[in-house]
Amino acid sequence: MIPKATPATRAAAIERLGAFLPRAGHQYRRDRNRDRGPGQHSNVSGLSPYIRHRVVSESEVLKAVLYQHTVASAEKFIDEVYWRSYWKGWLEHRPDVWSRYLEQLRGSLRAVDTDRGLRNACEEAVTGRTGIEPFDAWAQELISTGYLHNHARMWFSSIWIFTLKLPWELGADFFLRHLLDGDPASNTLSWRWVAGLHTRGKTYLATADNIEKYASTRFFADGPPLGLTRLSSRADPLVEEALPAAVPLSLPEPVDATSGSGLLLTEEDLYLDAPLAPRAVALWMPSAMHPLPASDLVSAFKAEAGQDALEGARKRWPQAREGSALSSVPQIVDWARQHALEQVYMAYIPQGHLSMQVAELRQALIDVDCRLRVFVRDFDRLAWPHATKGFFQLKRQIPRMLEALGLA
Ligand SMILES: Cc1cc2nc3c(=O)[nH]c(=O)nc-3n(C[C@H](O)[C@H](O)[C@H](O)COP(=O)(O)OP(=O)(O)OC[C@H]3O[C@@H](n4cnc5c(N)ncnc54)[C@H](O)[C@@H]3O)c2cc1C
Repeated sequence: MIPKATPATRAAAIERLGAFLPRAGHQYRRDRNRDRGPGQHSNVSGLSPYIRHRVVSESEVLKAVLYQHTVASAEKFIDEVYWRSYWKGWLEHRPDVWSRYLEQLRGSLRAVDTDRGLRNACEEAVTGRTGIEPFDAWAQELISTGYLHNHARMWFSSIWIFTLKLPWELGADFFLRHLLDGDPASNTLSWRWVAGLHTRGKTYLATADNIEKYASTRFFADGPPLGLTRLSSRADPLVEEALPAAVPLSLPEPVDATSGSGLLLTEEDLYLDAPLAPRAVALWMPSAMHPLPASDLVSAFKAEAGQDALEGARKRWPQAREGSALSSVPQIVDWARQHALEQVYMAYIPQGHLSMQVAELRQALIDVDCRLRVFVRDFDRLAWPHATKGFFQLKRQIPRMLEALGLA
């Protein structure tokens, strides 16, 4: 079945959530690990592109799930939603991991320019011409749909690192630029986890048996696919210089809304709930954020999601001035001036490409007597402090967090 392009609107997200809800309990627990191929992923929610940009919020997804299922029967799904928070929170404590990744990526991109062998091997991998049939199919699925099943992401990254022996950060970059849910925390840290850099020394090895067990209908219907005998039987952990110590979280205090304020939506958080009735709404959508550009599919998805959020904002806050998409700090400053804004509110920007520009924006606004005020969603404020070690430290807190959010 040829998958349709994923619509980026909130209406589409709510429809997808509604369609998935009956399957979010024991069915999800039983079937979620199966990779059935493009257009056949109904055993998982497919909500990640929407959750990634907060077209829908984690709280509303869990609220809808818990309306139909008990916490016990939806435990697996709830855990997965919190895996995302775990990665986000963990990277907040270790911002150096993101800057180190970017630095290594630039180094590897330079190596690709100068080393023809590496360039050819990368080219084969990202265009699906390695001869390892499942790997090639995943590369093509990613490029044509912007999505891969979680298990496929694990197998793909493991084969990239341990069989093809390519630099992990080039694979992570390939994912980040092509996934509709491409996320600095979930993506970078999952690649690091597979490589043995997250849980030191513990790697993930893709095996033919495991691929057959969970993707048999996709790849084994006519016998074993080509190339699986080439898979590495070893996954020796990558090593790196020790990371700097974790930094304490420093989240801004809750803010009180004041008049004369504007709301700045970003691709990190398009959820239309803010502690103010804004005088003006705009969308910050920087044009270039990677050393290499995102795929057309990803750019189109983000643009549509942003426009849809602006339209939603018009209905939600009819008093606010017509919003527009702004791509640079000077444009935001002009917008603040034009509407005589004393304050610009924005949902917290977690570690990633955009967070690196927040200090510049704050200063530029101060220069025109406007303050940047940042609010943090309760979901993040509750979860991130528990993301300092392994996931299970955070998991233990889930019942308490659900209760604090009024969801239990
Ligand atoms: C190498 C690698 C790279 C990844 N890169 C990303 C990425 O860039 N962005 C991203 O959102 N996820 C990433 N993941 C996690 C996971 O694969 C996707 O979130 C999941 O496949 C999305 O599909 P879904 O919405 O159908 O998930 P479901 O199974 O329906 O899960 C529901 C939601 O929980 C969250 N979630 C589920 N599994 C995970 C997980 N393992 N880690 C973090 N959150 C999870 C997602 O928000 C997802 O929408 C990556 C995993 C690996 C192994």
